[in-house]
Amino acid sequence: MAKIVCVLYDDPEGGHPTNYPRDGVPRIERYPDGQTTPTPKAIDFTPGEMLGDVSGALGLRKYCEKNGHQLVVTSDKDGANSTLDRELHDAEVVISQPFWPAYMTAERFARAPKLKLIITAGIGSDHTDLDAAVRHGVTVAEVTYSNSISVAEHVVMMILALVRNYLPSHEWVRRGGWNIADCAQRAYDIEGMHIGTVAAGRIGSAVHRRLKAFDVKLHYTDRHRLPAQVEQELGLTFHPDTASMVPVCDVVSINCPLHPETLNLFDERMIARMKRGAYLVNTARAQIVDRDAVVRALQSGQLAGYAGDVWYPQPPPKDHPWRTMPHEGMTPHTSGTTLSAQARYAAGTREILECYFEGRPIRDEYLIVRDGKLAGAGAHSYSVR
Ligand code: NDP
Repeated sequence: MAKIVCVLYDDPEGGHPTNYPRDGVPRIERYPDGQTTPTPKAIDFTPGEMLGDVSGALGLRKYCEKNGHQLVVTSDKDGANSTLDRELHDAEVVISQPFWPAYMTAERFARAPKLKLIITAGIGSDHTDLDAAVRHGVTVAEVTYSNSISVAEHVVMMILALVRNYLPSHEWVRRGGWNIADCAQRAYDIEGMHIGTVAAGRIGSAVHRRLKAFDVKLHYTDRHRLPAQVEQELGLTFHPDTASMVPVCDVVSINCPLHPETLNLFDERMIARMKRGAYLVNTARAQIVDRDAVVRALQSGQLAGYAGDVWYPQPPPKDHPWRTMPHEGMTPHTSGTTLSAQARYAAGTREILECYFEGRPIRDEYLIVRDGKLAGAGAHSYSVR
């Protein structure tokens, strides 16, 4: 019997939902690279239900009880004496998610001597200290691809919302106004604009494919160049690094993981290299940008808009400047936790648990750290100090 500690966001203010606006979600069987969506032996939930909150418990409760495992689900993850801290001493598995991250620091590793497996229910394991995972021989796995398309859709939405000045225009209507000129004074079309992505992985590439239809000029930078045939098909211009790409772009979307190489990549100097009035969209990780440099650039007009759904820390304090800076289109960290995405990452979490407890290999695509080193997807996309 193992103890599994699962950290999830709180239920909605009105309580865990009992009905939904729609009767289900489309069934997706394969990702664009041909990999199958998660294939656990069974699931104990109906796709389209809320699974990512505490009461949803990622649909794992029955499975854990049937197999004699103790499942502790909590949203209490920060501050001295949090439930997470109190439960760690005998936990074998920790499940967390980027939206409400249980920051698995080196100190927490030190207090969890039985810890063997950390699962990110979603994508992006930077809230886990990967160096510490390597040192402690803890496996880290995430549900690769589970919400990549969800995020790509959010990116396209945010680019359009910023460039077309959607949110302020919507506000005029709610306030009873009909102020067309107020709305139009900051509204443009994206047609013909140069749009670049930092990284062309699963999300970056999905953003390219979705934007192609808008007749924009697409750019990217990545550590590995895409095949010439893909560049040709999408009309992509490759740049060797971010610094050489941003001066030509009207819009930049950040789609790389947070690791030592990308920490603070968009600092004052990088933002100064961008075109005056460029838009920056960041659904990757907040610490890839310098928080206060973004605020200053919006105030000065160097950036015409900033949108994203990633903050640091999460949840951010009430007075976080991104809540009130001008020309922002922020959401809480929601892009990858639509009900559609939840069904996939909950099933993927179950698949990883089944593999772990049954002694079967976890898909290589899901692995970030194994046997004391970066592995699988982690070896490809991350670096450790
Ligand atoms: P992928 O692993 O498919 O792609 C990441 C890409 O980033 C890879 O192509 C990698 O390059 C590239 N990369 C790594 N370092 C650099 C760098 N220094 N400069 C340029 N490119 C770099 O991941 P996804 O596309 O699925 O996800 C990307 C990130 O988005 C995640 O790590 C996560 O932080 C974030 N995310 C956010 C979500 C949200 O809800 N907002 C949900 C899901 C993910 P290569 O492999 O070629 O070396």
